[in-house]
Amino acid sequence: MNCCDLAPPHVRAIAPYLPGKPIAELARELGLDEAGIVKLASNENPLGLSPRALAAAQDTLHDMALYPDGAGFALKARLSAKLAVDPAQIVLGNGSNDVLDMVARAFLAPGTSSVFSQHAFAVYPIATQTVGAYGVVVPANNYGHDLAAMRAAIRDDTRVLWIANPNNPTGTFLPWAEIEAFLATVPRQVLVVLDEAYGEYLPETERCDTTAWLARFPNLVVTRTFSKAYGLAGLRVGYGLGHPDVIDLMNRVRQPFNVNAPALAAAEAALDDSDFLARSHALNTAGMAQLVAGLGGMGIETVPSRGNFLLARVGDAARVNTALLKCGVIVRPVANYGLPEFLRVSVGLAAQNARFLDALRACR
Ligand SMILES: *Cc1c(COP(=O)(O)O)cnc(C)c1O
Repeated sequence: MNCCDLAPPHVRAIAPYLPGKPIAELARELGLDEAGIVKLASNENPLGLSPRALAAAQDTLHDMALYPDGAGFALKARLSAKLAVDPAQIVLGNGSNDVLDMVARAFLAPGTSSVFSQHAFAVYPIATQTVGAYGVVVPANNYGHDLAAMRAAIRDDTRVLWIANPNNPTGTFLPWAEIEAFLATVPRQVLVVLDEAYGEYLPETERCDTTAWLARFPNLVVTRTFSKAYGLAGLRVGYGLGHPDVIDLMNRVRQPFNVNAPALAAAEAALDDSDFLARSHALNTAGMAQLVAGLGGMGIETVPSRGNFLLARVGDAARVNTALLKCGVIVRPVANYGLPEFLRVSVGLAAQNARFLDALRACR
C-alpha cells in the first residue's frame, strides 16, 4: 500500500480534465515552427485582450511583492454598479472554474448528488467527484439540456444542478424563458448553477438579464467569466452572483487570495471597454458564419452554436484530429464528452478559420 493507493476512491476515479494542446507542445512533438501553428482548441479570444485591460494589468506589476486585495473590493464595486447587484451577492474566482469548484465544496459532500446533462461542461463532474458526491447524468435532447428530464432527475440527496447556457462543448442554447420557468419548479434546497461563460456571444435579441432573477430565486447562482469574450483566459478571473447567504458560504471555502492583482485590475478595465467587446462579438459572428458555410460546403454536419466554437461531425474524429495536428492545426477532440464523431473548433480570425477549413479539406 502506498499513499496513492490510500487516496479516497472518488479522487482516484476522477477522469482528468483534458485541455486543448498548447502550441509549444505540438511544436516540440512534431518539430514544427510555433509561428505556423493555429490553435482553435480552447475557445480563446482571437483578438487577444483589450489594450486597456493590458495596460491596467501592467500597472500592477511593480507591486508584485504585495498580496492582492483578497476581498476584490474595487472589482466587486465595479460589477455591483454595472449589474445592479449588492457586492455581498458577488464572489470572485480564479476563473469561473474556481467559482464552480467553490459551489461543489460549499454545497456537496459524500452522500449527496449533483445533476448535469450528458455532454455538459467537464468541470461539473470533476468538481462533484472531488468532494465525494456523485453525479446524475441526464441524457441530452438533440445535444442540449433536457430541462424536464433534469427536473425529474432531482433526488432527495440532490444539492446542486448545473446548466451551461450556451453549453460547452455543444454550443446548444435554451431560450431564457424556458430556464426561468424551470427555475420556478426546482425545489429550494437544490442550488441551480447557471453558467454563462459564453453569454457575451449571444445575439442582442437573445440576451437576458438573469441577475434580475436572483431576488426571486435564492437558490440560483449565475457564473460568468473574463476568459472568453473579454480575452483574459491567461489571467484567470471570473465571478459568481447569488443570494448573500449562498455567497457567504462560498467565500468561506474560497482561498483567501484566489484572484491575483493583475487579473483584478485587468478585469475592471475590461468591463469599461465596450468597444473591444463589440469587436469580439462581430468577429465571432463573421467567423461562425465562415465556419458553418465552409463545413457545410464539405457536407460536414454541424450543431448550431451560440458560443465562440462549433461542433463538426467529421466521422473518425481521432484520426482526423491526428491529421490536422500534422498540418499544424489544433482543435479539440470531444470523445471524452461522449461525442467521438465530432471535433470542436473555436472561432478564430478569418485566416485561421480558413487554415482549419483547408487542412480539413486536405486530410479527411
Ligand atoms: C470556458 C468555460 C468556463 C470558464 O472557464 P474559466 O475558468 O473562467 O476560464 C466556464 N464554463 C464553461 C462552460 C466554459 O466553457
